[in-house]
Amino acid sequence: MEKKADYIIVGQGLAGTCLAVVLMRRSRRVVIIDPNEAVTSSRVAAGLYNPVTGRKMVKTWMADRLFPYLTDFYTDLEELTGAKFLNTTGIYRPFISLEEQNEWMGKSASEEFRQYIRKVHCQSRSERINDPFGGLELAQAGYLKVATFLGAMHDHFRAREMLRAGNFVFDRLIIHQNTVEYEGITAKRIIFCDGSSWEHNTYFNWLPFRPVKGEVLEIKCDLEVNFIVNRGVFCVPLSKNMFRVGSNYDNNDHSWTPTERAKAEIEEKLRALINVPFETVYQKAGVRPSSKDRRPYIGLHPANEALGVFNGLGTKGVSLAPFFGEHFACYLEDGKELYKEVNISRYFSLYYNSQK
Ligand SMILES: Cc1cc2nc3c(=O)[nH]c(=O)nc-3n(C[C@H](O)[C@H](O)[C@H](O)COP(=O)(O)OP(=O)(O)OC[C@H]3O[C@@H](n4cnc5c(N)ncnc54)[C@H](O)[C@@H]3O)c2cc1C
Repeated sequence: MEKKADYIIVGQGLAGTCLAVVLMRRSRRVVIIDPNEAVTSSRVAAGLYNPVTGRKMVKTWMADRLFPYLTDFYTDLEELTGAKFLNTTGIYRPFISLEEQNEWMGKSASEEFRQYIRKVHCQSRSERINDPFGGLELAQAGYLKVATFLGAMHDHFRAREMLRAGNFVFDRLIIHQNTVEYEGITAKRIIFCDGSSWEHNTYFNWLPFRPVKGEVLEIKCDLEVNFIVNRGVFCVPLSKNMFRVGSNYDNNDHSWTPTERAKAEIEEKLRALINVPFETVYQKAGVRPSSKDRRPYIGLHPANEALGVFNGLGTKGVSLAPFFGEHFACYLEDGKELYKEVNISRYFSLYYNSQK
């Protein structure tokens, strides 16, 4: 059956889902092709969003734009689908010293950090956590139940006949002057949101990806806290006595197989964070589609503007996908400029070199 669309989107991970949503809001006709696999980068992700990160606790790139946007974005979709997937409980980060506590007492009033700090705790919040100096309770932080979100959106798209189940096969794409054609679907553009499968993408595999494997554990434990604790590793309450813990970063191994080494590394960090015994009951691994310069890859192909890409979300898909999905839609639909830091034009020389 022939179908006309404005956009074909390949991949229904965080990137493809958020882009489809903002295009739908503009009344664009979208068809999404995705095999609905159980293990993808998005489905393995712990789903944390956190505006102040890293050992040095700095504000993440573009936090002031990304974080206010994401809460409304996911909340609207909860209303649309009737599902619950956004948890806004905040994140608690224990201090390692009195100096650090003092430093954050000062910073908490600053223009830069005020909106991201819910409370500076000067005393331990629980004897079960290793936080003798208290800790920082971050606002505009929490986690997205990514698999629940993607599942709810999958059902929403399917009910509107927007989904094609299965893998996109590259040599079946026909590119015309101003349109593309794929298995009976004619569209103005095709946008690749294929995440960690970038290597198989014959149009965009010249982009310099730096995949980073990560693993997460599910543990059973009497921690008795209902907030996320994060220092070295995060510990997210899932249900009574069940927590998700992670993650590690491995630049060398790009397999999707869980390893004993990662399990031992995460468990060791967890022992430094909590004061109660735990039992690991489940472990999973995934590969983050990270870019060379840690910025998303957004834009149209240098040789054919019917082909586009939205990828490179790396370690921060939950916070980057909503804002940059909208940013890409403004470019595609309204002709607005893309930020230089995310525009794939910064790597066009790699494409031209690959054609020599
Ligand atoms: C262990 C781990 C923990 C993480 N924790 C966090 C976290 O706490 N917070 C956070 O923000 N991020 C986290 N991330 C990163 C996050 O998962 C990624 O940024 C995000 O998932 C990238 O989304 P994506 O849609 O670009 O890619 P993917 O999730 O890889 O989605 C791509 C989709 O495209 C489909 N696809 C691929 N090829 C084809 C094809 N040929 N035809 C059709 N469909 C295709 C795939 O099946 C998939 O559904 C974590 C990642 C890992 C691995």
